[in-house]
Amino acid sequence: MAEVASAAAVRAIMRRHGISCRKSLGQNFLMDQNIARKIVGAAELTPSDLVVEVGPGLGALTALAARGAGRVLAVEFDAGLLPALAGVLKDLSNVDIIQGDALKVDYDRLAGEKTGGVYGKSGSKYKLLANLPYYITSPLLMHLLHGRFNISLMVLMVQSEVADRLAASPGTGSYGAISLAVQYFTEPKLLFRVPRTVFYPQPGVDSAVVRLAVRPAPAVAVRDEQTFFKVVRAAFGKRRKTLLNSLASSGLGIGKETCLQAIESAGIDPGRRGETLSLEEFALLTDKFLDASC
Ligand code: SAM
Repeated sequence: MAEVASAAAVRAIMRRHGISCRKSLGQNFLMDQNIARKIVGAAELTPSDLVVEVGPGLGALTALAARGAGRVLAVEFDAGLLPALAGVLKDLSNVDIIQGDALKVDYDRLAGEKTGGVYGKSGSKYKLLANLPYYITSPLLMHLLHGRFNISLMVLMVQSEVADRLAASPGTGSYGAISLAVQYFTEPKLLFRVPRTVFYPQPGVDSAVVRLAVRPAPAVAVRDEQTFFKVVRAAFGKRRKTLLNSLASSGLGIGKETCLQAIESAGIDPGRRGETLSLEEFALLTDKFLDASC
């Protein structure tokens, strides 16, 4: 099978099929076969794996994934790419191309439907692979995490700065609400950086590959997940304010006195900033909020 992730292959495929890149769909095609191998290698595929790939594009990762996994379901939004993708993958009988919007896919249902229930909600876990279009990174991550799909591992190429945020520790500039959401549901690891020069067209930023191992249960126990994420978002809403002021003015609907009481009974200094709190502290704080607002 010919290599897809090279400058010559990408240009030839695009020319043959009359494809021009759609910037609005985040189309930056990978042109480095070694990096493609490293990304797919990070998913540690075996023949018993089902892989869902988001945004296969011209098939740079898809073709490699299909060689390692039992089956690949590739979800591509741009119908205009499908003939080229089908051409690239024509010798691989274990790939299904699905035209659809990754933000709207019920992944468990898709996995179940395509495998007769062997994978999916009440079947086995599966893996997710993507060189993500930047514009859907955050909403897709939220969909994947809060959807609680039966996914064991995600290997994602994202903007370098976003990768830093996913794996960030409390008190650092990159730490934010998305760090907490990702770390609540998964164990993130930043694997390696990818320079912008290996994409066509070249994006304005560098990328990085992250591995998110989905936890069997969230990292901390919370009594009410919705309130937990509301408190997290409120604490990061106004980064330069103290925790007390952020929460009291956040629209959580809790007065300053009650906020103070909850923060103090969680043993947290109300003068700290939200970005210094750990997952465990946010969990405790949420419980104290629930106690205080009963
Ligand atoms: N995987 C290919 C590669 O590595 O060369 C292409 C990656 S490119 C950064 C992102 C791909 O996601 C494009 O093929 C784009 O058309 C597709 N895409 C954009 N929005 C999408 C969406 N909402 N759902 C599914 N695919 C989408």
